[in-house]
Amino acid sequence: MLDERSYDRRRFLRDAAVGAAAVSTAGLAAGAPARAANTTTAATAGAGGSGAVSFRWWGTSGWRIDIGNRTVLVDPYLSRYDTGLFKGAFNENTPLTVDTTVVDPLVDRAENILVTHTHWDHFNDVPHIAERTGGRVFGTLTAYHLGLAYGLPSGQLAPVKGGEVLDFGAYTVEVVSSRHSRNGAWSMAFPGVRVSRPPRPEKISDLPEGDTLAYQIRVDGGPSVFFMGASDFAERNLVGLAPDVAMVASAASTATADYVPRLMAALDYPKVVVPVHWDNFETPLTNPPTVAPNDRKRLEDLIAAVRKASPRSRVLVPEYHTAYHF
Ligand SMILES: [Zn+2]
Repeated sequence: MLDERSYDRRRFLRDAAVGAAAVSTAGLAAGAPARAANTTTAATAGAGGSGAVSFRWWGTSGWRIDIGNRTVLVDPYLSRYDTGLFKGAFNENTPLTVDTTVVDPLVDRAENILVTHTHWDHFNDVPHIAERTGGRVFGTLTAYHLGLAYGLPSGQLAPVKGGEVLDFGAYTVEVVSSRHSRNGAWSMAFPGVRVSRPPRPEKISDLPEGDTLAYQIRVDGGPSVFFMGASDFAERNLVGLAPDVAMVASAASTATADYVPRLMAALDYPKVVVPVHWDNFETPLTNPPTVAPNDRKRLEDLIAAVRKASPRSRVLVPEYHTAYHF
């Protein structure tokens, strides 16, 4: 259920954005994602306009969220090494490595680290970041056991299933049981779970999907923002979330029926939709993001589908590192 205040504020935000409804894809066609300036309307409407809450995209489905002096990370994958995936030569025995020269300057602190699932392009850097920052890791039971395998203390690992609403004072985190993307064969890479502590992972195939979660962060006096790490969901688990902003994963294939219309309806047509997981995550994290031709097509299809299913939503195609205020 929506509380009245939340609903009214959402209506206000949505109405305030009408003039700017649906960002054009002109910039995209020219090879440049939409600029941060597109967030102007939202910035004045959200979080008391204080600008104290910022969201920075780190590529793939990764985010750094700063709420005052507190930092939450979602799926932080910064090492972005070559597995051959974008060259048609995927090597599932690629060794897991952490590029501390990239990770450490970006990650000075983290209170909470939210993991949607444990594939390497989401989880690879998490144990290092947790060790470096002392940040608490939320994820599936598989993420918990993998964290133990990397030597993290159990007290720093918080297994969740979906349904939990976690209180951190200035913000809450609601955990949502979700689903992984389907590939063109209606399947996925590296399925599986870990129900006990495995040996320390060494190659990317040692990190199974481990079930998939989504998260909603609700900032006190600010926006509620929904985060996906993969392009499928359990529709009935989204009832009542009604986020102001939704970070939506670009569809990996057309295997999931009516992905965008069902998602928009289930999320009650968010004011802002931010496509994620469309960039080539095996290139450096520098703007403009590198996009493979088939991923560009998927991104354009996602934008078109959002505009059709939820015409009053504004689509924001993010750039790396830019601080967005909603
Ligand atoms: Zn995955």
